[in-house]
Amino acid sequence: MRIDKLLANTGYGSRKEVKKLLKNGSVTVEEKAVKDPKTQVNPEQQSVYVHGEEVFYREFIYLMMNKPGNVISATEDLHEKTVIDLLHPDDAFISPFPVGRLDKDTEGLLLLTNDGKLAHQLLSPKKDVPKTYFAIIKGQVTEDDKQAFEKGVILDDGYETKPGFLEILKAGERSDIELTITEGKFHQVKRMFEAVGKKVIYLKRISMGPLQLDEALSLGEYRELTEEEVSQLQ
Ligand code: URA
Repeated sequence: MRIDKLLANTGYGSRKEVKKLLKNGSVTVEEKAVKDPKTQVNPEQQSVYVHGEEVFYREFIYLMMNKPGNVISATEDLHEKTVIDLLHPDDAFISPFPVGRLDKDTEGLLLLTNDGKLAHQLLSPKKDVPKTYFAIIKGQVTEDDKQAFEKGVILDDGYETKPGFLEILKAGERSDIELTITEGKFHQVKRMFEAVGKKVIYLKRISMGPLQLDEALSLGEYRELTEEEVSQLQ
C-alpha cells in the first residue's frame, strides 16, 4: 500500500500532514528515509518508523458512534448530513461505513467499520444478531403487546416478524419500553408498534449483539472499539 495511506490509517495525521512528515525526512522504511508519498510499502514485511517510533499497521477500523437524530446513516448524500461527516478526517480516510441503518430520527448505537466480512456477519439474517432499542411510545403499552411481539406481528406489507422481546419500563399515556429484535426490516420497530395500534415517538438503539452503547458518548461522538469489544464481535 502507499506509504501516505499507511501513515494516515495508523493515525499519523491527514494526507497533508503525512506528506509533510515524509518531506522532512521523518519517515524510514527498512532504515532508509522515504520522502515520496506514493512509495509502496508492505507493512507486514517491512519495518516503518516515524521519528524513530515503529508504526503498527491496522487494516481495519471499528468505531462506535452515538448517532444523533439529525444525520443519515449513509456514506454520502447530496442533500443530507451523514454519519461520515461527523468523523475526523483521519478516521474518514480509512473509509468506514455504517453497519446497517438507523432512521434519520433514530439515535444511539451505530457501528462503523471498513471490515466488510464482519459487517456481513452482523447483518446476515441467518445470524439472528439481537438488537435492543429503547423507545418512548404514545399510548399505554400492555402485556398483550408483549405477547403479540413474542408471537410475531404482521407488518403493513404482510410480513410476519420473528419473535421480539418487549420489556415495559413505564406504562402510561406515554410508555417507556425496551424491545429486542433479531431482524432489521425497514422501520421495523416503528412498524411493529403500528401493528399493535401505537406510535413510536422516540427511538434509540442501545445494543447490537455483544456491543452496548457507551453512555459516556454524547450524541454525535464516537470512539474506537476496545480490543475486547472487537474480539467479542468476531
Ligand atoms: N426500527 C426503526 O423503526 N427504526 C430504526 O431506525 C431502527 C429500527
